[in-house]
Amino acid sequence: MPRNPHYDILFEPVQIGPVTAPNRFYQTPHATGMGNMRPNSSAALRATKAAGGWGVVCTEYCSIHPSADETPYAYLSLWDDEDLEQLALTCDAIHRQGSLAGVELWHGGSHSNNRGTRLPPLAPTGCSTIFTGAGQQVREMDTSDIAALRRWQRDAALRAQQAGFDIIYVYAGHDYLPFQFLSPLTNRRTDEYGGSFENRARLLREMIEDTREVVGDRCAVAVRLAIDELHGAPGISADGDGRRVIEYLGELPDLWDIALGGSLGNDSCSARFAAEGYQEPYAGVVKQLTSKPVVSVGRFTSPDTMVGQVRRGVQDFIGAARPSIADPFLPWKIDHGHEDQIRECIGCNICRSANNEGAPLRCTQNPTMGEEWRRGWHPEKIAPARRDASILVVGGGPAGLEASLALGRRGYRVTLAEAGDELGGRLLLESTLPGLANWIRVRDYRSHLLAQMGRIDVYLQSPLAAADLVEFDADAIVLATGSRWRRDGVGTHGRQPVPVESSARVLTPNDLFADELPPGDFVIYDDDHYFMAGALAEMLLQAGRRVTYLTPASSVSSWTAMTDEQDFIQRRLLQLGLATGFNRRLERVERERLFSCCTYSGEVFDYDFDNLLLVTGRLPNDELFRQLSIDATRIGDCFVPSSIADAVYAGHRLAREFDEDPATLVAKRERARLQQLDLDEVAMP
Ligand code: ADP
Ligand code: SF4
Repeated sequence: MPRNPHYDILFEPVQIGPVTAPNRFYQTPHATGMGNMRPNSSAALRATKAAGGWGVVCTEYCSIHPSADETPYAYLSLWDDEDLEQLALTCDAIHRQGSLAGVELWHGGSHSNNRGTRLPPLAPTGCSTIFTGAGQQVREMDTSDIAALRRWQRDAALRAQQAGFDIIYVYAGHDYLPFQFLSPLTNRRTDEYGGSFENRARLLREMIEDTREVVGDRCAVAVRLAIDELHGAPGISADGDGRRVIEYLGELPDLWDIALGGSLGNDSCSARFAAEGYQEPYAGVVKQLTSKPVVSVGRFTSPDTMVGQVRRGVQDFIGAARPSIADPFLPWKIDHGHEDQIRECIGCNICRSANNEGAPLRCTQNPTMGEEWRRGWHPEKIAPARRDASILVVGGGPAGLEASLALGRRGYRVTLAEAGDELGGRLLLESTLPGLANWIRVRDYRSHLLAQMGRIDVYLQSPLAAADLVEFDADAIVLATGSRWRRDGVGTHGRQPVPVESSARVLTPNDLFADELPPGDFVIYDDDHYFMAGALAEMLLQAGRRVTYLTPASSVSSWTAMTDEQDFIQRRLLQLGLATGFNRRLERVERERLFSCCTYSGEVFDYDFDNLLLVTGRLPNDELFRQLSIDATRIGDCFVPSSIADAVYAGHRLAREFDEDPATLVAKRERARLQQLDLDEVAMP
């Protein structure tokens, strides 16, 4: 299909210093949980983005020296020439698709507790490390440390150029070292690197000049700057020192990559807390102050919004991390008139959780993310069917939808039966919760393509029983019948059912979704710890109910720290008037009173309630499977309840592996290159 001419502007080349980006699609640096531990996976992931049309593809953070070590998190490194090979692999993979390769050179300062290298951490001013532990403090850098840092940046830049990179970063965002010098909150020096604005900006200026001096003739020098650390005065703010940085240094680098906040949570804010284009007020300021190209993220998935950003002069590029993860072929789809097929990011931040857990990248919308090398999965291509076969998929939630779509793409004859009036399963309920409307995109992307495909039969209002399945006589049956919330209090901490008096009004999230809200106040007991209890609390508080939140954890929705949302959620709920009881384990429930105990001391605390909402574990809806006398495969929540991301992945994996020889399905592993040990060295002298 031809491209819509309205989008032509997105495909204009843009000059960045000595290099030219082929279009305006700029994959900004983002973590992958792969780093130098998984170089092949990393290279394949970036190559896929480049093949998908991103004109610039950047790496994740790349340490310039062993004093910037974030073990156990995955980062890249350019400490010596031995690091060159794997970065050259990534660079070459990007270049072969015609895109520019960028590397985000990085020093974390007080963010780097150096657990791996065991070097003392560095910062402009002595303090504790961000990752507190064992009383570790950070050493204040003296002028020889600063000179060394500048040398490390220059050496790493030279290596980056040797590896083949076109764009080389100075990273002054997300509270990393050059930013720590900029901000008066972290820089209390009294020498020429502290005090006045010019002194605090001195290191950043020198690092830009140094980088330009060693590689500027062939490579573009980019600066990633947090324009506002969102900590209020006297920190860096967009109308204060953030703006002054651009006024002062605006013409020095070849490109400004504008980030937000002292932590990544502000920059990659989930859809629950920020809409598409949320950084516009910040990036727009920069464009007014410099002639150099500007890029910034904003979870852009709509080509019209992208065009608006460029036409209104907000930025020159469309910066993206998450939209490029959810759909590596987003630019290609716009270019080929298939913008209706964009797999839009839902802003759930499951991708952030991968890195925060030290695991390889995964994505709710894109099940192939992170699997490009390991399993050889391509986001847009899939092997044809091995034979003509009919497959009956039961259940139209995320797992059943993805399985049907991917099986259909392979060429199998698929029938999808859904008991309800609509496709979507759990998404239909969960997307009605405050801030989660975008989650329905998981359904919409798939149901749209299923409809386009034509040859997939979808039956709604079709609750199938075991006899129906036998009668249908398909070549294969896939059950994706979902799960339900438990009513017995068994969850993450509570492994035994909780005694509950039968007259007590005990509800689960399923009850709340199914019926009108019952009268009275609520106690929510959260032993699930992901989004559900917090989102229901928000919904109930907005409906004017009093809510008390009990949990064995020490915070609200504690696991959402992994999706960078926890502090946002807790702040919002406290502002809405939530009452909390942390470190409380549910022990016993009477008619209108429950008894909990402190998880540490065992001290008993009782609470009166009208309604007790249990958000604990889930049970698979596998009754149909158990009644079946013929073979069937369970996927998603009906096999093992988990996240939407895991349900989509299960559906996709089933389709990829259907009819395939199990011997060919082994995921490749990254292995260390072995070296000969000197055994004399380990013997006693
Ligand atoms: P998952 O996350 O694993 O996809 P969901 O709970 O989101 O699970 O979706 C399961 C879907 O299966 C629901 O839409 C539900 O209505 C449907 N379903 C459950 N049992 C049957 C059945 N016997 N026949 C048809 N559809 C069913
Ligand atoms: Fe977007 Fe969620 Fe995928 Fe991250 S995991 S890219 S937020 S859909």
